[in-house]
Amino acid sequence: MFNHFERYLKFPICTFDAKVGVLCPKCEDRLKNGEITEADVKASFVLAKLLNQFPVLDKLTLKRAYRVGDDYVLLFNQGEAKQVLSNKQVMSKLKEALGNVWVTEQTSDARQFLENLMYPIRLLTINIVWLPDGSRHIKAIIAGQETNNLPIDLNKVKEITKIITGDEIVFEFEKGKFTKKSSIVRTR
Ligand SMILES: [Zn+2]
Repeated sequence: MFNHFERYLKFPICTFDAKVGVLCPKCEDRLKNGEITEADVKASFVLAKLLNQFPVLDKLTLKRAYRVGDDYVLLFNQGEAKQVLSNKQVMSKLKEALGNVWVTEQTSDARQFLENLMYPIRLLTINIVWLPDGSRHIKAIIAGQETNNLPIDLNKVKEITKIITGDEIVFEFEKGKFTKKSSIVRTR
């Protein structure tokens, strides 16, 4: 198929390798010495296959992909994750190919990173505490009432964030149901 875009989706592996679904000797070496991972390769192959169907992906850059348990996490360039997350067809194709998929972007902005990862859950506030060793503790407050029926697993969010950014997260809800605060009877 003729490609109308000058820029082609970029991957952690060569564009050509991603297109044909085979690694060149150079990328094989990078895989062997740990510069890239099996997850990078797999996610690149899957995304390259989706390109013909979804030209919107053409302008994006997949920075890295991670395997966390049985899930895949795709890390796009800053500002790009929403384009993938908001496209239901792309998301369902990714899930078909990779199983449970998380999408976020490479950014130093903890809120941006988390909001994409947790999409469509809205965060009210983020408090960052810097520890003496340079690591960060993040308190993220989820908008709305506390519930056990969130569409995402918060423990998985913690695990993924720890692996990718090194940050520790504690979640709280705007309106707690089982917290100490809720001992104050709410009339509504
Ligand atoms: Zn290559």
